[in-house]
Amino acid sequence: MRRFVFFALAALIIIFSVIVDGATPQKKVAYITIDDGPTLNTPNIIETLKRHKAGAAFFVLKDRIETYPDYIKMMETNGFTIGLHGVSHNGDIYATPTSPLNEMNETNEALYKLLGRRSRVVRTPYGSKPNLTDKQRQLLETAGYKIFDWNVDPRDSIGAVVDRTAVLRNLRAGLEAAGPKAVILLHDRKSTSMALDEILSLVEAAGYELGTLDENTEF
Ligand SMILES: [Zn+2]
Repeated sequence: MRRFVFFALAALIIIFSVIVDGATPQKKVAYITIDDGPTLNTPNIIETLKRHKAGAAFFVLKDRIETYPDYIKMMETNGFTIGLHGVSHNGDIYATPTSPLNEMNETNEALYKLLGRRSRVVRTPYGSKPNLTDKQRQLLETAGYKIFDWNVDPRDSIGAVVDRTAVLRNLRAGLEAAGPKAVILLHDRKSTSMALDEILSLVEAAGYELGTLDENTEF
């Protein structure tokens, strides 16, 4: 009898834990990504990210690595991912089959000179789709690069003066459409750095953890 009670209890516990587990909502993760830096706004952006204990990936340009080496080091020492965004930041990067790879390699060498290590994470300007040809993509991937686009675009870089209310509205709508895994496109610029506290608060209030996108992230 005692044994029966024991097994009955054990069975109940197992059934109950399966039900509870099934009811647990899926974990929501948002990855903040910040393109086009570093700039003079980078320290401010990093301070705000730290205050929110938020991870982030910065996709940086070659000439800006050379102009603001201290800010690259600041990204590194604070545990953020440093990804590559290229050299030209215009149509030139898509000009030939090898030009995207060449621009990312060149950017990587600037990073290597500064940090003694290279990055495997890239974002091509304006997104890889439809800009990269199959051949260009294949050359990047064969070289070991992992290409990241985004699924949430709050449109924080449209025009010289950005409407903060519109950015927050776009962000909210974008998160709803993206679901439990959000990769958010932001830019290293003054208006974004000033709105970042509100941006991060909105993402947190929507139930997302703020993760760090890196070469192991599945997206
Ligand atoms: Zn860009």
